[in-house]
Amino acid sequence: MKLPIYLDYASTTPVDTSVYKKMLCYLKYSGIFGNPASKSHIYGWQAENAVEKSRRSIANLICADTREIIFTSGATESNNLAIKGIACLNKEKKIHIISGKTEHYSVLDTCYALQSKGIELSLLKPQKNGIILPQQLKKELRKNTVLVSLMHVNNETGIIQDIELFGKICRSSGILFHVDATQSIGKIAIDLRKIPVDLMSFNAHKIYGPKGIGVLFIRRRPPIYLKAQMHGGGQENSFRPGTLPVHQIVGMGEACRLIQKKMHEENKKIEKLRKILINGIQEKNKIIFNGDQENNVPHILNISFPGIDSRLILSSLKDLAISTGSACTSGDFHESHVLQSMGVSRLLSSNSIRISLGRFNSEEEIRFAVNHINNIIPNLN
Ligand SMILES: *Cc1c(COP(=O)(O)O)cnc(C)c1O
Repeated sequence: MKLPIYLDYASTTPVDTSVYKKMLCYLKYSGIFGNPASKSHIYGWQAENAVEKSRRSIANLICADTREIIFTSGATESNNLAIKGIACLNKEKKIHIISGKTEHYSVLDTCYALQSKGIELSLLKPQKNGIILPQQLKKELRKNTVLVSLMHVNNETGIIQDIELFGKICRSSGILFHVDATQSIGKIAIDLRKIPVDLMSFNAHKIYGPKGIGVLFIRRRPPIYLKAQMHGGGQENSFRPGTLPVHQIVGMGEACRLIQKKMHEENKKIEKLRKILINGIQEKNKIIFNGDQENNVPHILNISFPGIDSRLILSSLKDLAISTGSACTSGDFHESHVLQSMGVSRLLSSNSIRISLGRFNSEEEIRFAVNHINNIIPNLN
């Protein structure tokens, strides 16, 4: 069977070959398999060395200190730890949290869970182009606001938010700022020495590393305290206890090292592929872009084909692996909460698809995709 062309890199990416090769060395008896917390023998020391080397590669990618990197099981857990960890510190007081309507469900549902326990919640609604303006954030700040959590790049639209401005507003108001950077890491250079972000989540599997590993950056200067959500052996400064999965961590470290090296060149390639894709599709179809086309990453393209149902599009484009919006919601074709909150009509939203490009897409594949789309979609009308 000929597999469809993979155009769903925003939902997950394959592990890069060099990541895969590195990971294999950290599993077997003949490799390095020790528990990094074992301080009494070489098996543990070797494992700890590997973890710390990877921690450095990850910290380097965001210009952080290695002590600011806490390993988790992925971005979902990092988001939960950041938001609940801050909220739980302030249990006695009536506190207020600000987030956005276009956040990933791992942030949104965490906020809703806290709201059901009595925490005040405001969700910022973006402009029609998907962007949240700094003055919108300023207007929502209250005396009891303790945390603002906003994503850097949206996973459905690729829209980039100005986290530097948001961070400055929060810092000058003494409010903590958390960023879900899962879709921006490796696509946009992030220098946390310059950007006043206090907590930042991301994972490995969106940047050609393995699934099941992520980090939470927790700033040391000024120091951030948060309440652990699990209790156990004291690993990761007790912020997140549990035996460290060395092979996963080594995979994430290598993925970060690679993407830091490749980012510039890779972005140029993806930009070129996106242009070919858009120009090609527009030759035979009327499309509507969902979200600002200036402030976005080239990797994610969210478009509507007016009058054609997404389900029909996805089932007809048999040679392409694409989706509608986020992987978590595309199974049951609910209306996208992201497009809805941007004011996209219910109808146009039900005509939308997300095409996301990545490292292993070739120009040939994109030209094939354009032909396939142009052969099929005009006949669906
Ligand atoms: C994929 C994704 C997540 C969830 O990451 P996991 O590691 O799969 O839990 C969170 N936020 C954004 C923006 C994502 O794209």
